[in-house]
Amino acid sequence: MLQQRLIEALGTDAVKTAPEDLAVYAFDAYSQGVMPAAVVLPASTREVAAAVKIANDCGEPVIPRGAGTGLCGGAIPARGGVIFSFARMNRVLEVDARNRRARVQPGLINLDLSKHVAKAGMFYAPDPSSQKVSTIGGNIGTNAGGPHCLSYGTTVNHVLELEIVDENGDVILTSLDDIGYDLTGVLVGSEGTLGIVTSAWVRLLRQPETVRVWLAAFDDVHAASAAVTGIIGAGIIPTALEMMDQVMLPAIEAAFHAGYPTDAAAVLLIESAGFEDEMNLHESEISRVVKEHHATTWRAAKSEAERDALWAGRKGALGATGRIAPNYYIQDVVVPRTKLPQALQAVADACEPQGIIAGNVFHAGDGNLHPLLMYDRGDPKQVAAVIEAGNQILGAAVDLGGTISGEHGIGYEKRDTLRRIFSTDDLATMSRVREVFDPKRRLNPEKIFPAGIGCAEVQ
Ligand SMILES: Cc1cc2nc3c(=O)[nH]c(=O)nc-3n(C[C@H](O)[C@H](O)[C@H](O)COP(=O)(O)OP(=O)(O)OC[C@H]3O[C@@H](n4cnc5c(N)ncnc54)[C@H](O)[C@@H]3O)c2cc1C
Repeated sequence: MLQQRLIEALGTDAVKTAPEDLAVYAFDAYSQGVMPAAVVLPASTREVAAAVKIANDCGEPVIPRGAGTGLCGGAIPARGGVIFSFARMNRVLEVDARNRRARVQPGLINLDLSKHVAKAGMFYAPDPSSQKVSTIGGNIGTNAGGPHCLSYGTTVNHVLELEIVDENGDVILTSLDDIGYDLTGVLVGSEGTLGIVTSAWVRLLRQPETVRVWLAAFDDVHAASAAVTGIIGAGIIPTALEMMDQVMLPAIEAAFHAGYPTDAAAVLLIESAGFEDEMNLHESEISRVVKEHHATTWRAAKSEAERDALWAGRKGALGATGRIAPNYYIQDVVVPRTKLPQALQAVADACEPQGIIAGNVFHAGDGNLHPLLMYDRGDPKQVAAVIEAGNQILGAAVDLGGTISGEHGIGYEKRDTLRRIFSTDDLATMSRVREVFDPKRRLNPEKIFPAGIGCAEVQ
Protein backbone atom coordinates (compact mmCIF):
# COMPACT_ATOMS: atom_id res chain seq x y z
CA MET A 1 0.00 0.00 0.00
CA LEU A 2 2.71 2.51 1.08
CA GLN A 3 5.05 1.60 -1.76
CA GLN A 4 2.27 1.57 -4.34
CA ARG A 5 0.99 5.01 -3.31
CA LEU A 6 4.50 6.48 -3.36
CA ILE A 7 5.08 5.10 -6.86
CA GLU A 8 1.76 6.56 -8.06
CA ALA A 9 2.70 9.99 -6.68
CA LEU A 10 6.41 10.16 -7.60
CA GLY A 11 6.89 7.60 -10.38
CA THR A 12 8.73 4.28 -10.43
CA ASP A 13 12.19 5.81 -10.85
CA ALA A 14 11.82 7.90 -7.73
CA VAL A 15 10.86 5.10 -5.34
CA LYS A 16 13.16 2.31 -4.22
CA THR A 17 11.58 -0.81 -2.80
CA ALA A 18 13.87 -3.74 -3.67
CA PRO A 19 15.54 -5.22 -0.57
CA GLU A 20 19.03 -4.76 -2.06
CA ASP A 21 18.30 -1.04 -2.61
CA LEU A 22 16.75 -0.54 0.81
CA ALA A 23 19.72 -2.24 2.50
CA VAL A 24 22.03 0.56 1.32
CA TYR A 25 19.94 3.13 3.18
CA ALA A 26 19.99 1.19 6.45
CA PHE A 27 23.54 2.51 6.99
CA ASP A 28 25.31 5.80 7.40
CA ALA A 29 28.95 6.58 8.14
CA TYR A 30 28.35 5.77 11.81
CA SER A 31 26.40 2.59 11.89
CA GLN A 32 23.56 0.37 10.78
CA GLY A 33 19.89 0.90 11.51
CA VAL A 34 16.99 -1.29 10.44
CA MET A 35 15.65 -1.63 6.89
CA PRO A 36 13.46 1.28 5.75
CA ALA A 37 10.01 0.51 4.34
CA ALA A 38 10.79 2.58 1.22
CA VAL A 39 13.24 5.15 -0.13
CA VAL A 40 12.03 8.15 -2.13
CA LEU A 41 14.10 10.44 -4.33
CA PRO A 42 11.82 13.45 -4.82
CA ALA A 43 12.58 16.02 -7.52
CA SER A 44 10.65 18.97 -6.04
CA THR A 45 9.23 20.42 -2.84
CA ARG A 46 5.78 19.41 -4.08
CA GLU A 47 6.90 15.77 -4.29
CA VAL A 48 8.45 15.93 -0.82
CA ALA A 49 5.16 17.24 0.57
CA ALA A 50 3.13 14.57 -1.25
CA ALA A 51 5.38 11.76 -0.01
CA VAL A 52 5.25 13.04 3.60
CA LYS A 53 1.43 12.96 3.45
CA ILE A 54 1.45 9.40 2.12
CA ALA A 55 3.91 8.27 4.81
CA ASN A 56 1.64 9.85 7.44
CA ASP A 57 -1.45 8.11 6.06
CA CYS A 58 0.42 4.79 6.26
CA GLY A 59 1.75 5.43 9.77
CA GLU A 60 5.40 5.47 8.64
CA PRO A 61 7.98 7.92 10.02
CA VAL A 62 10.10 9.97 7.60
CA ILE A 63 13.88 10.29 7.69
CA PRO A 64 15.64 12.95 5.60
CA ARG A 65 19.03 11.91 4.27
CA GLY A 66 21.87 13.76 2.56
CA ALA A 67 25.05 11.89 1.68
CA GLY A 68 24.94 9.67 4.79
CA THR A 69 28.35 10.91 6.01
CA GLY A 70 26.93 11.77 9.44
CA LEU A 71 28.96 10.22 12.23
CA CYS A 72 26.27 9.72 14.88
CA GLY A 73 23.60 7.68 13.10
CA GLY A 74 21.37 10.70 12.37
CA ALA A 75 20.25 9.42 8.97
CA ILE A 76 19.71 5.74 9.79
CA PRO A 77 16.17 4.40 10.11
CA ALA A 78 15.86 3.50 13.79
CA ARG A 79 12.44 1.88 13.32
CA GLY A 80 11.75 1.59 9.61
CA GLY A 81 10.00 4.44 7.80
CA VAL A 82 10.50 6.27 4.54
CA ILE A 83 13.95 7.63 3.72
CA PHE A 84 13.95 10.91 1.78
CA SER A 85 17.11 11.10 -0.31
CA PHE A 86 17.85 14.46 -1.95
CA ALA A 87 20.15 13.17 -4.67
CA ARG A 88 17.80 14.65 -7.31
CA MET A 89 17.38 17.99 -5.56
CA ASN A 90 21.02 18.96 -5.86
CA ARG A 91 21.11 22.27 -7.75
CA VAL A 92 22.04 25.88 -7.15
CA LEU A 93 18.69 27.56 -7.90
CA GLU A 94 19.73 31.20 -7.85
CA VAL A 95 22.77 33.35 -7.11
CA ASP A 96 22.09 36.87 -5.86
CA ALA A 97 25.63 38.23 -6.22
CA ARG A 98 24.74 41.79 -5.22
CA ASN A 99 23.46 40.58 -1.88
CA ARG A 100 26.04 37.81 -1.69
CA ARG A 101 23.66 34.93 -1.22
CA ALA A 102 22.48 31.83 -3.06
CA ARG A 103 19.35 29.70 -3.00
CA VAL A 104 20.18 26.02 -3.10
CA GLN A 105 18.51 22.65 -2.93
CA PRO A 106 19.26 20.36 0.03
CA GLY A 107 21.06 17.69 -2.00
CA LEU A 108 23.67 20.13 -3.32
CA ILE A 109 27.17 18.95 -2.41
CA ASN A 110 28.85 21.51 -0.15
CA LEU A 111 31.98 22.01 -2.28
CA ASP A 112 29.93 22.36 -5.47
CA LEU A 113 28.49 25.62 -4.15
CA SER A 114 31.91 27.23 -3.71
CA LYS A 115 32.94 25.93 -7.14
CA HIS A 116 29.75 27.37 -8.66
CA VAL A 117 30.36 30.91 -7.33
CA ALA A 118 34.19 30.95 -7.53
CA LYS A 119 34.27 32.84 -10.83
CA ALA A 120 32.20 35.59 -9.24
CA GLY A 121 34.88 35.88 -6.53
CA MET A 122 32.77 34.32 -3.77
CA PHE A 123 32.72 31.18 -1.63
CA TYR A 124 30.56 29.36 0.92
CA ALA A 125 32.44 29.32 4.21
CA PRO A 126 31.33 26.21 6.22
CA ASP A 127 33.75 23.53 5.07
CA PRO A 128 33.37 20.16 6.81
CA SER A 129 36.22 17.85 5.84
CA SER A 130 33.52 15.77 4.15
CA GLN A 131 32.65 18.70 1.85
CA LYS A 132 33.45 16.80 -1.34
CA VAL A 133 30.42 14.58 -0.64
CA SER A 134 28.29 15.91 2.22
CA THR A 135 25.24 17.98 1.30
CA ILE A 136 23.95 21.38 2.30
CA GLY A 137 20.77 19.70 3.67
CA GLY A 138 22.85 17.37 5.84
CA ASN A 139 25.11 20.26 6.88
CA ILE A 140 22.03 22.23 7.95
CA GLY A 141 20.71 19.13 9.75
CA THR A 142 23.87 18.83 11.83
CA ASN A 143 24.92 22.50 11.92
CA ALA A 144 28.19 21.31 10.40
CA GLY A 145 31.47 22.96 11.23
CA GLY A 146 34.86 22.59 9.60
CA PRO A 147 38.44 23.84 9.79
CA HIS A 148 37.52 27.35 8.66
CA CYS A 149 34.64 27.78 11.10
CA LEU A 150 37.08 29.11 13.71
CA SER A 151 36.72 32.60 12.29
CA TYR A 152 33.76 32.26 9.89
CA GLY A 153 31.34 30.46 12.23
CA THR A 154 29.43 27.23 11.65
CA THR A 155 26.53 26.52 9.28
CA VAL A 156 23.98 28.33 11.47
CA ASN A 157 25.85 31.59 10.86
CA HIS A 158 25.45 31.17 7.09
CA VAL A 159 21.81 30.16 6.66
CA LEU A 160 19.52 33.09 5.90
CA GLU A 161 16.18 31.53 4.96
CA LEU A 162 14.71 28.06 4.86
CA GLU A 163 11.91 26.35 3.05
CA ILE A 164 10.80 23.27 4.96
CA VAL A 165 8.13 20.63 4.66
CA ASP A 166 6.63 20.03 8.08
CA GLU A 167 5.30 16.85 9.66
CA ASN A 168 1.89 17.30 7.99
CA GLY A 169 3.37 17.79 4.54
CA ASP A 170 2.79 21.56 4.56
CA VAL A 171 5.41 23.98 3.21
CA ILE A 172 6.76 26.62 5.61
CA LEU A 173 9.18 29.50 4.98
CA THR A 174 11.43 30.97 7.68
CA SER A 175 13.80 33.90 7.43
CA LEU A 176 16.53 35.36 9.58
CA ASP A 177 14.94 38.74 8.89
CA ASP A 178 11.57 37.77 10.37
CA ILE A 179 10.60 39.55 13.52
CA GLY A 180 9.68 37.26 16.38
CA TYR A 181 11.35 33.98 17.23
CA ASP A 182 14.38 32.93 15.18
CA LEU A 183 12.89 29.74 13.73
CA THR A 184 15.70 29.47 11.19
CA GLY A 185 18.14 29.19 14.09
CA VAL A 186 15.94 26.56 15.76
CA LEU A 187 15.79 24.46 12.59
CA VAL A 188 19.54 24.48 11.87
CA GLY A 189 21.08 21.58 13.78
CA SER A 190 17.73 19.90 14.46
CA GLU A 191 18.87 16.74 12.63
CA GLY A 192 15.67 16.27 10.64
CA THR A 193 13.47 16.14 13.76
CA LEU A 194 11.60 19.44 13.19
CA GLY A 195 11.13 19.59 9.43
CA ILE A 196 12.59 18.59 6.08
CA VAL A 197 14.68 21.29 4.42
CA THR A 198 13.70 21.59 0.76
CA SER A 199 15.64 24.76 -0.09
CA ALA A 200 17.80 27.34 1.64
CA TRP A 201 19.14 30.81 1.05
CA VAL A 202 22.73 30.76 2.28
CA ARG A 203 25.29 33.50 2.78
CA LEU A 204 28.25 33.80 0.38
CA LEU A 205 31.50 35.51 1.32
CA ARG A 206 33.89 37.43 -0.87
CA GLN A 207 37.17 35.62 -1.52
CA PRO A 208 39.91 37.20 0.57
CA GLU A 209 42.69 39.25 -1.04
CA THR A 210 45.42 37.10 0.50
CA VAL A 211 45.48 33.60 1.99
CA ARG A 212 48.51 32.40 3.94
CA VAL A 213 49.04 28.87 5.25
CA TRP A 214 51.81 28.01 7.71
CA LEU A 215 53.01 24.76 9.20
CA ALA A 216 54.54 24.54 12.67
CA ALA A 217 55.93 21.27 14.03
CA PHE A 218 56.67 20.43 17.66
CA ASP A 219 58.40 17.57 19.43
CA ASP A 220 55.93 17.76 22.28
CA VAL A 221 52.13 17.75 21.94
CA HIS A 222 51.70 19.88 25.06
CA ALA A 223 53.91 22.59 23.56
CA ALA A 224 51.76 22.53 20.40
CA SER A 225 48.61 22.88 22.54
CA ALA A 226 50.15 25.77 24.46
CA ALA A 227 51.02 27.47 21.15
CA VAL A 228 47.34 27.24 20.12
CA THR A 229 46.31 29.07 23.30
CA GLY A 230 49.19 31.51 22.80
CA ILE A 231 48.10 32.46 19.26
CA ILE A 232 44.50 33.17 20.25
CA GLY A 233 45.72 34.84 23.46
CA ALA A 234 47.82 37.20 21.32
CA GLY A 235 44.54 38.48 19.85
CA ILE A 236 44.81 36.66 16.53
CA ILE A 237 41.93 34.56 15.24
CA PRO A 238 43.33 32.64 12.26
CA THR A 239 40.76 31.36 9.76
CA ALA A 240 41.88 27.84 10.69
CA LEU A 241 44.06 26.33 13.41
CA GLU A 242 44.29 22.56 13.12
CA MET A 243 46.40 19.96 14.90
CA MET A 244 47.60 16.50 13.81
CA ASP A 245 49.57 14.17 16.08
CA GLN A 246 52.40 11.67 15.66
CA VAL A 247 50.05 8.70 15.14
CA MET A 248 48.38 10.38 12.17
CA LEU A 249 51.26 12.25 10.51
CA PRO A 250 53.05 9.26 8.90
CA ALA A 251 49.76 7.77 7.69
CA ILE A 252 48.60 11.06 6.17
CA GLU A 253 51.97 11.75 4.59
CA ALA A 254 52.10 8.27 3.05
CA ALA A 255 48.61 8.75 1.60
CA PHE A 256 48.80 12.37 0.42
CA HIS A 257 52.48 13.46 0.24
CA ALA A 258 51.36 16.72 1.80
CA GLY A 259 54.82 17.70 2.99
CA TYR A 260 54.27 17.07 6.72
CA PRO A 261 57.27 16.15 8.92
CA THR A 262 56.59 12.54 9.94
CA ASP A 263 58.86 12.55 12.99
CA ALA A 264 57.07 15.43 14.78
CA ALA A 265 54.96 14.84 17.90
CA ALA A 266 52.42 17.34 16.59
CA VAL A 267 51.91 19.64 13.63
CA LEU A 268 49.81 22.79 13.56
CA LEU A 269 48.31 23.85 10.25
CA ILE A 270 47.46 27.53 10.48
CA GLU A 271 45.65 29.67 7.91
CA SER A 272 44.89 33.37 7.90
CA ALA A 273 43.01 35.25 5.21
CA GLY A 274 42.43 38.94 4.65
CA PHE A 275 44.33 41.99 3.44
CA GLU A 276 48.06 41.72 2.68
CA ASP A 277 49.18 44.11 5.48
CA GLU A 278 47.11 42.34 8.08
CA MET A 279 48.51 38.98 6.96
CA ASN A 280 52.07 40.23 7.35
CA LEU A 281 51.20 41.18 10.91
CA HIS A 282 49.63 37.78 11.57
CA GLU A 283 52.68 36.02 10.14
CA SER A 284 55.13 37.80 12.42
CA GLU A 285 52.95 37.39 15.53
CA ILE A 286 52.16 33.71 14.94
CA SER A 287 55.80 33.00 14.15
CA ARG A 288 56.83 34.68 17.41
CA VAL A 289 54.33 32.61 19.45
CA VAL A 290 55.19 29.21 17.93
CA LYS A 291 58.92 29.86 18.34
CA GLU A 292 58.34 30.84 21.96
CA HIS A 293 56.80 27.39 22.33
CA HIS A 294 59.86 25.73 20.79
CA ALA A 295 58.51 24.86 17.35
CA THR A 296 61.05 22.63 15.59
CA THR A 297 59.79 23.61 12.12
CA TRP A 298 58.09 26.79 10.95
CA ARG A 299 57.38 27.43 7.31
CA ALA A 300 54.91 29.17 5.05
CA ALA A 301 53.38 27.59 1.95
CA LYS A 302 55.06 29.34 -0.98
CA SER A 303 52.47 28.66 -3.65
CA GLU A 304 48.81 27.87 -4.07
CA ALA A 305 49.77 24.30 -4.97
CA GLU A 306 51.71 23.90 -1.71
CA ARG A 307 48.82 25.41 0.23
CA ASP A 308 46.38 22.99 -1.42
CA ALA A 309 48.67 20.04 -0.69
CA LEU A 310 48.87 20.96 3.00
CA TRP A 311 45.07 21.15 3.16
CA ALA A 312 44.53 17.95 1.14
CA GLY A 313 46.43 16.05 3.84
CA ARG A 314 44.37 17.51 6.64
CA LYS A 315 41.02 17.14 4.92
CA GLY A 316 41.73 13.59 3.80
CA ALA A 317 43.14 12.52 7.17
CA LEU A 318 40.28 10.19 8.10
CA GLY A 319 40.78 8.17 4.92
CA ALA A 320 44.46 7.70 5.82
CA THR A 321 43.51 5.74 8.96
CA GLY A 322 43.12 2.69 6.72
CA ARG A 323 46.94 2.47 6.83
CA ILE A 324 46.80 2.00 10.62
CA ALA A 325 43.79 -0.27 11.23
CA PRO A 326 40.83 -1.70 9.30
CA ASN A 327 38.33 0.51 11.18
CA TYR A 328 38.24 3.71 13.17
CA TYR A 329 35.79 5.13 15.66
CA ILE A 330 35.83 8.92 15.74
CA GLN A 331 34.79 10.88 18.79
CA ASP A 332 33.73 14.51 18.72
CA VAL A 333 34.16 16.39 22.00
CA VAL A 334 34.89 19.98 22.94
CA VAL A 335 36.94 21.31 25.84
CA PRO A 336 37.99 24.83 26.78
CA ARG A 337 41.06 25.56 24.61
CA THR A 338 43.28 25.94 27.67
CA LYS A 339 42.41 22.34 28.66
CA LEU A 340 43.70 20.76 25.42
CA PRO A 341 46.77 19.15 27.08
CA GLN A 342 44.59 17.51 29.76
CA ALA A 343 42.06 16.39 27.14
CA LEU A 344 44.77 14.80 24.97
CA GLN A 345 46.13 13.07 28.08
CA ALA A 346 42.62 11.80 28.86
CA VAL A 347 42.39 10.30 25.35
CA ALA A 348 45.70 8.48 25.91
CA ASP A 349 44.60 7.34 29.39
CA ALA A 350 41.35 5.92 27.98
CA CYS A 351 43.04 4.08 25.10
CA GLU A 352 46.53 2.94 26.13
CA PRO A 353 45.54 0.53 28.93
CA GLN A 354 43.23 -1.26 26.47
CA GLY A 355 45.90 -1.44 23.78
CA ILE A 356 43.94 0.90 21.47
CA ILE A 357 45.93 3.10 19.11
CA ALA A 358 44.45 6.62 19.18
CA GLY A 359 45.30 9.29 16.61
CA ASN A 360 44.28 12.93 16.85
CA VAL A 361 43.36 15.27 13.99
CA PHE A 362 41.28 18.17 15.14
CA HIS A 363 40.09 21.76 15.21
CA ALA A 364 42.53 22.88 17.92
CA GLY A 365 41.54 26.54 17.74
CA ASP A 366 37.98 25.62 18.79
CA GLY A 367 39.07 23.06 21.41
CA ASN A 368 37.15 20.53 19.27
CA LEU A 369 38.89 17.15 19.52
CA HIS A 370 38.38 14.24 17.14
CA PRO A 371 40.21 11.28 18.67
CA LEU A 372 40.37 8.44 16.15
CA LEU A 373 40.29 5.09 17.90
CA MET A 374 41.70 2.38 15.64
CA TYR A 375 40.27 -1.13 15.80
CA ASP A 376 39.16 -4.19 13.91
CA ARG A 377 35.37 -4.50 13.64
CA GLY A 378 35.74 -8.28 13.28
CA ASP A 379 37.03 -8.61 16.84
CA PRO A 380 34.21 -8.22 19.42
CA LYS A 381 36.75 -7.55 22.19
CA GLN A 382 38.19 -4.61 20.30
CA VAL A 383 34.70 -3.28 19.55
CA ALA A 384 33.80 -3.38 23.26
CA ALA A 385 37.12 -1.77 24.24
CA VAL A 386 36.64 1.07 21.74
CA ILE A 387 33.10 1.79 22.94
CA GLU A 388 34.32 1.82 26.54
CA ALA A 389 37.23 4.14 25.71
CA GLY A 390 34.88 6.42 23.71
CA ASN A 391 32.62 6.74 26.76
CA GLN A 392 35.58 7.53 29.00
CA ILE A 393 36.63 10.29 26.60
CA LEU A 394 33.12 11.77 26.68
CA GLY A 395 33.18 11.73 30.48
CA ALA A 396 36.62 13.34 30.59
CA ALA A 397 35.51 16.16 28.25
CA VAL A 398 32.50 16.89 30.49
CA ASP A 399 34.72 16.81 33.61
CA LEU A 400 37.07 19.31 31.95
CA GLY A 401 34.16 21.73 31.50
CA GLY A 402 33.52 20.79 27.88
CA THR A 403 30.73 19.04 26.03
CA ILE A 404 29.90 15.82 24.16
CA SER A 405 29.62 17.08 20.59
CA GLY A 406 31.33 19.85 18.70
CA GLU A 407 29.86 19.44 15.24
CA HIS A 408 28.86 15.89 14.38
CA GLY A 409 25.53 16.09 16.23
CA ILE A 410 23.73 13.78 18.64
CA GLY A 411 21.74 11.53 16.32
CA TYR A 412 21.18 7.98 17.47
CA GLU A 413 24.62 7.38 18.94
CA LYS A 414 24.79 10.08 21.59
CA ARG A 415 21.17 10.46 22.61
CA ASP A 416 21.65 8.73 25.96
CA THR A 417 24.87 10.65 26.56
CA LEU A 418 22.86 13.88 26.47
CA ARG A 419 21.96 13.21 30.11
CA ARG A 420 25.55 13.94 31.06
CA ILE A 421 25.02 17.53 30.01
CA PHE A 422 21.33 18.27 30.54
CA SER A 423 18.94 17.67 33.44
CA THR A 424 15.58 16.00 32.90
CA ASP A 425 13.98 19.46 33.09
CA ASP A 426 16.36 20.78 30.41
CA LEU A 427 15.52 17.84 28.16
CA ALA A 428 11.79 18.22 28.77
CA THR A 429 12.01 21.89 27.74
CA MET A 430 13.77 20.96 24.50
CA SER A 431 11.26 18.20 23.95
CA ARG A 432 8.43 20.72 24.17
CA VAL A 433 9.99 22.56 21.21
CA ARG A 434 9.92 19.32 19.30
CA GLU A 435 6.33 18.79 20.41
CA VAL A 436 5.33 22.01 18.64
CA PHE A 437 6.86 20.94 15.32
CA ASP A 438 6.28 17.21 15.48
CA PRO A 439 3.74 16.16 18.13
CA LYS A 440 3.33 12.65 16.69
CA ARG A 441 7.09 11.98 16.44
CA ARG A 442 6.91 11.30 12.73
CA LEU A 443 10.11 13.13 11.85
CA ASN A 444 13.32 11.14 12.31
CA PRO A 445 12.15 9.43 15.51
CA GLU A 446 14.52 8.12 18.18
CA LYS A 447 17.15 10.72 17.42
CA ILE A 448 18.64 13.35 19.75
CA PHE A 449 16.51 12.62 22.83
CA PRO A 450 17.39 9.85 25.29
CA ALA A 451 15.16 6.79 25.28
CA GLY A 452 12.83 6.33 28.25
CA ILE A 453 13.82 9.42 30.20
CA GLY A 454 11.61 10.04 33.28
CA CYS A 455 9.52 12.73 31.62
CA ALA A 456 6.93 10.92 29.52
CA GLU A 457 7.12 13.64 26.88
CA VAL A 458 10.75 12.93 26.08
CA GLN A 459 10.99 9.94 23.73
C1 LIG B 1 35.51 11.81 6.46
C2 LIG B 1 34.51 12.65 7.19
C3 LIG B 1 34.88 13.94 7.60
C4 LIG B 1 33.95 14.74 8.29
N1 LIG B 1 34.31 16.01 8.68
C5 LIG B 1 33.40 16.80 9.29
C6 LIG B 1 33.76 18.14 9.68
O1 LIG B 1 34.87 18.62 9.46
N2 LIG B 1 32.79 18.90 10.28
C7 LIG B 1 31.53 18.40 10.52
O2 LIG B 1 30.70 19.14 11.06
N3 LIG B 1 31.20 17.14 10.18
C8 LIG B 1 32.08 16.34 9.58
N4 LIG B 1 31.73 15.06 9.22
C9 LIG B 1 30.38 14.57 9.54
C10 LIG B 1 29.34 14.78 8.39
O3 LIG B 1 29.98 14.88 7.13
C11 LIG B 1 28.50 16.03 8.65
O4 LIG B 1 27.71 15.81 9.81
C12 LIG B 1 27.59 16.42 7.49
O5 LIG B 1 26.92 17.63 7.82
C13 LIG B 1 26.55 15.36 7.12
O6 LIG B 1 26.05 15.68 5.84
P1 LIG B 1 25.32 14.56 4.94
O7 LIG B 1 24.87 15.21 3.69
O8 LIG B 1 26.18 13.37 4.80
O9 LIG B 1 24.04 14.27 5.87
P2 LIG B 1 23.49 12.90 6.44
O10 LIG B 1 24.55 12.17 7.18
O11 LIG B 1 22.77 12.16 5.40
O12 LIG B 1 22.42 13.47 7.50
C14 LIG B 1 22.85 14.15 8.65
C15 LIG B 1 21.63 14.63 9.45
O13 LIG B 1 20.96 15.66 8.73
C16 LIG B 1 19.61 15.29 8.51
N5 LIG B 1 19.24 15.79 7.17
C17 LIG B 1 19.78 15.45 5.98
N6 LIG B 1 19.16 16.11 4.99
C18 LIG B 1 18.22 16.88 5.56
C19 LIG B 1 17.23 17.76 5.06
N7 LIG B 1 17.08 18.00 3.76
N8 LIG B 1 16.40 18.37 5.95
C20 LIG B 1 16.51 18.15 7.27
N9 LIG B 1 17.42 17.30 7.81
C21 LIG B 1 18.27 16.68 6.96
C22 LIG B 1 19.58 13.78 8.62
O14 LIG B 1 18.28 13.31 8.98
C23 LIG B 1 20.60 13.54 9.70
O15 LIG B 1 20.03 13.73 10.97
C24 LIG B 1 32.64 14.24 8.57
C25 LIG B 1 32.29 12.94 8.14
C26 LIG B 1 33.21 12.17 7.47
C27 LIG B 1 32.78 10.79 7.04
